[in-house]
Amino acid sequence: MDLELRLLQVINRLRLAEQMANRPAGSVQLLAVSKTHSATSIRKLAAFGQYRFGENYLQEAQTKIALLNDLALEWHFIGHLQANKTRQIAALFQWVHSVDRVKLAERLSAQRPNTLPPLNICLEVNVSGELTKSGVAPGKLLELANAVAILPNLTLRGLMTIPAPNDVNAFRKLAQLFDELQTKGLNLDTLSMGMSDDLELAVTHGATMVRIGTAIFGSRATQL
Ligand SMILES: *Cc1c(COP(=O)(O)O)cnc(C)c1O
Repeated sequence: MDLELRLLQVINRLRLAEQMANRPAGSVQLLAVSKTHSATSIRKLAAFGQYRFGENYLQEAQTKIALLNDLALEWHFIGHLQANKTRQIAALFQWVHSVDRVKLAERLSAQRPNTLPPLNICLEVNVSGELTKSGVAPGKLLELANAVAILPNLTLRGLMTIPAPNDVNAFRKLAQLFDELQTKGLNLDTLSMGMSDDLELAVTHGATMVRIGTAIFGSRATQL
């Protein structure tokens, strides 16, 4: 099946999920997760109107972003954040979804070039409580959010999670934390949750951005 057809299928799934959840059409944004897929495929999707792309690995993203710099694409870093990569990430991306420590946020803010608008940030939350996973613990989220919200070159937009495979309540829990932060006065608009297999469930629980790889690009078995 070709890329355009897969993209249209995913958009149909999204529109249907919005309808089922009584949410306005187009209220959920589609982030196409392009890790391991070529700049050529991304260019094709851009021609079909998809312009938001998510990448996990800095080096791979650098190559593709350079090859595609004639297009007005929006790049989201969704991979594991390492302190020694923040400078390049702060310069290349418009969004980072995986901030889970204040130290990383401080680096991104300090290193964001002042010729660029503030970097959009989602805090990654470990809602499933997996010991090996990255993400801030729910009990430490408010403190982190308050610290990130005041950093000058960042805009705190919302929350992100990658649930454990068996955690059926993960999206509900993230949505609840999102509401709690809003109640405490933080002005958030982005709930980044839902992947190829569970986008409908995520939309039901209030996702505003779903991160879809396999359902658009096919399997990641083949590398660049
Ligand atoms: C790879 C990845 C996705 C996309 O997953 P699919 O199941 O291929 O849709 C979404 N979010 C993150 C953080 C990822 O690493």
